[in-house]
Amino acid sequence: MITIENYINGKNTTPLSGQYLDDFEPATGLLYAQCPNSDNDDLDLAVLAAENAKAAWSNTPAEQRSAILSGIADLIDEHADDLARAEAIDNGKPITFAKNVDIYRAAANIRFFAQAITQFSSESHGMENTAINYTLRDPIGTVACISPWNFPLYLFTWKIAPALAAGNCVIAKPSEVTPMTAYLFSKLCIKAGLPPGVLNILHGSGAQIGAAITQHPAIKAISFTGGSATGTLIKQTTANSNKKLSLELGGKNPTLVFADCDFDKTVKEVARAAFSNQGQICLCGSRIYIQQPIYSRFIAALTKEVEKMKIGDPLDEATQFGALVSASHQNKVLSYIALAQQEGGTILTGGKKHPMTGRCEQGYFVQPTLVANLSNDARCNQEEIFGPVATVQAFETDEDAIKLANDSQYGLACSVWSQDVSRCHRVAKQLEVGIVWVNCWLLRDLRTPFGGVKSSGQGREGGLEALRFFTETKNVCIKFG
Ligand code: NAP
Repeated sequence: MITIENYINGKNTTPLSGQYLDDFEPATGLLYAQCPNSDNDDLDLAVLAAENAKAAWSNTPAEQRSAILSGIADLIDEHADDLARAEAIDNGKPITFAKNVDIYRAAANIRFFAQAITQFSSESHGMENTAINYTLRDPIGTVACISPWNFPLYLFTWKIAPALAAGNCVIAKPSEVTPMTAYLFSKLCIKAGLPPGVLNILHGSGAQIGAAITQHPAIKAISFTGGSATGTLIKQTTANSNKKLSLELGGKNPTLVFADCDFDKTVKEVARAAFSNQGQICLCGSRIYIQQPIYSRFIAALTKEVEKMKIGDPLDEATQFGALVSASHQNKVLSYIALAQQEGGTILTGGKKHPMTGRCEQGYFVQPTLVANLSNDARCNQEEIFGPVATVQAFETDEDAIKLANDSQYGLACSVWSQDVSRCHRVAKQLEVGIVWVNCWLLRDLRTPFGGVKSSGQGREGGLEALRFFTETKNVCIKFG
C-alpha cells in the first residue's frame, strides 16, 4: 500500500487530521494507495508557506525561475518510464499512451513556459508628443490550480507551469481519483531545488479541500479544469470575491465529415478522436456527423476501425484501449449506453463491459461503443458522457452540419474533414467553439489559445493567454515635461 503525501513548504507531509482517502487501480479494481484527505488546517499551512515565499519568488529573475523549471522538466524526462507506469496504474490508461502523451507533454508544458517567460514582453502606447504609456505585468501572488483526473500530470503541469513561470506561488489540487503522479512530481520539485513554499500540493476531495481553496481569501486567482457543473459552482462561490477565474470545462464535441474527405485517413482519425484515452478527453469528438452520400460506407468502415482497437491491460505496451478511471465512472458510462437504447439508438459496436481475465478480471473495462439512429436532441447527444461512447448521424448540406454542430450547450472544439479549403474556412468561421481542427485532431501548438465558449468555459489557456491570466496588468502613463 502506497501512502501519498502532501507537499507543503518544500517538504512532503502527512495531513494534519491523519485522514486518508482510498485510491484504486482501475485495471484491477483493487485498493493500492491512500491519499491525504486534506482540510482547512493543511490549507492554512500551505497558504502561509506560499505567502512567505512570494516576495522572493516574484523578485527572482525570470532567467532563474526558467532554469529551475527547466530542471524539473529534465527530471520528468529522466523518470519518464516510472511516471508513465504510475499514470497507467493510477488512471487505467495504456502505458504507451501515458508515456507518449501524458508524460512527454508534462515535460513539454514546463519547458514551454520556462522558455516563454524569458520572452514575455509588455506593450507601450505612445501618445504622439504628449505622453507614453507602458504596461507592467506583475505576478498576482498566491494562486490556485485545480485539475481533473483524465490527464493527471499533463493538465496539472499545464496550469502550474505558467503560474510559477510568471512568478506566482501556487496551491495546487490534483484529483483525488488520480493523485499519484502529482505526488511523484513533488519529489522531483524537491530534487530540482524549487524553493520551499513556491508550489504546495494538497491532496483530497473536491468537496472539502477543493471548495476550501476556492474560498480562501489569500488566493487571488483560480485556474480550474473540470466539469461544467463544478465550474458553475466555483463561479457562484467566488461571486462576491475579486478572484480572477479561468475555467476549462466540459465538451460534447462535433466531428464533421464531408463527402469529399480523404476517406481512409478520416476513418482512422475520427476513430482516434472519439476513443483516445477511452473517450475521456474533453476534446474527444463524440458526436460524429457524416454527409449523406458517404454515410453508410463511412459508418461501416468506422465500425471496423473501432473493432480493431486492442483492449487490454494498461501495463501491456501493445494495449491501445485501457480501463475507465473508476467504478462510478464505469457505471455512469454504462447507464448512458442503456439510455441510448431507451432513446431508440442502435448499437453499431461495443455497448458492454469488456470481459477481462487474469489480474484485470475486476477492472473497469467498457468497450468502445458507436450508436446510430438517435435524434440530435436525445440526451446522449446533448449531455457529456466523457467515456467511450460516440454517436453517428447523417447530414445533407454545410448549413445542416453547422446547425447540428452548434445545437449544444457546449462549445469546446470541433474537427472538420473535407478537401475543399473554402468550405473549411467558411464552416470554421461559423462554428460556436473555441478550437477548430481541420483534417486533424488534437494537433497541439502550445502557443495557441486553448479553451471553449458556452458551458465549455471562460477564458483561455496556452501561450501568452496563460501568462496574461497569471499576471496583474498595470498601465503607467508618463506625461512629457
Ligand atoms: P470535476 O469533478 O469537476 O473535478 C475537477 C477537479 O475539481 C478535481 O480536482 C476535483 O476534485 C475538483 N473539485 C470537485 N468539486 C470541487 C469544488 N466544489 N470546488 C473545487 N474543486 C472541486 O471533473 P472531473 O470529473 O475530474 O473531470 C472531468 C471533467 O473535466 C469533464 O467534464 C471534462 O470535459 C473536463 N475537462 C475539461 C478540460 C478542458 O480543458 N476544457 C480538460 C480535461 C477535462 P476531486 O476529483 O477530488 O473531486
